[in-house]
Amino acid sequence: MSTILWQDIIFGPIHSRRLGTSLGVNLMPVNGKICNFDCIYCECGWNRDGRTSGTAVPSFREVCDRMEETVSGLHSRGVKLDTITFSGNGEPTIHPDFPRIIDFTLNIRDRFYPEAKVSVLSNSTMVHRPEILAALRKVDNPIMKIDSADPGLLRTLNRPSGDYSLERVKEGLKGFGGDFILQTMFLRKGTEIDCTALRFVLPWQALVLELSPREVMMYTIDRETPESGLEKVSVDDMERIAAPLREAGIRVQVRG
Ligand code: SF4
Repeated sequence: MSTILWQDIIFGPIHSRRLGTSLGVNLMPVNGKICNFDCIYCECGWNRDGRTSGTAVPSFREVCDRMEETVSGLHSRGVKLDTITFSGNGEPTIHPDFPRIIDFTLNIRDRFYPEAKVSVLSNSTMVHRPEILAALRKVDNPIMKIDSADPGLLRTLNRPSGDYSLERVKEGLKGFGGDFILQTMFLRKGTEIDCTALRFVLPWQALVLELSPREVMMYTIDRETPESGLEKVSVDDMERIAAPLREAGIRVQVRG
């Protein structure tokens, strides 16, 4: 298995097919993943892997200093930037200073790259908290994960810790009033897991219509995964699942 852990608070810029030239922000420890999910496909590996003693999340001041230093340096060298993207080694919204960090990032963006977007890749688990929703509503691209409307499949794919509630996540996402991007993973594993089975697809399509996001991103595995035996889902299969949503007026992007 060869998974990736980001080695710094700020990384890149990297080229993203979805987001263009993207400067990454990792609010979780370097060399150790912390997430309240432990997805079987997580590119950072399992939560139990890569933990180092003394692992801690960076402080508000460390994040701000590294961001300002990096963004001003890129700007002075004339480097183009399309987006500043929060992703990294775990779920960014569990950082205790996430709302303050978003405010700081928007300020830095406005000063150095006013045309750039701020994006957050989130697993949606904290969106029921008013301060987290308020912070996410300030960014250009809140990209919010729900991998299944079926609680059993969701537990298999995402392995949430604590008292995860799909209903609570759905209610939280409704706070966007549709102004968010929904992201969903599709994969298979032999005869054990099939995200394209009709019994999973129909409730997921109903959930999308209920939440009515401004865009849906459907994607499949792209790199090695911590769980062995996972298989990609074809673009054709995902396009078939997307078709009724597009007919209903939902914008859907499929990435194979
Ligand atoms: S939510 Fe993201 S960071 Fe967390 S385990 Fe899943 S893929 Fe990894």
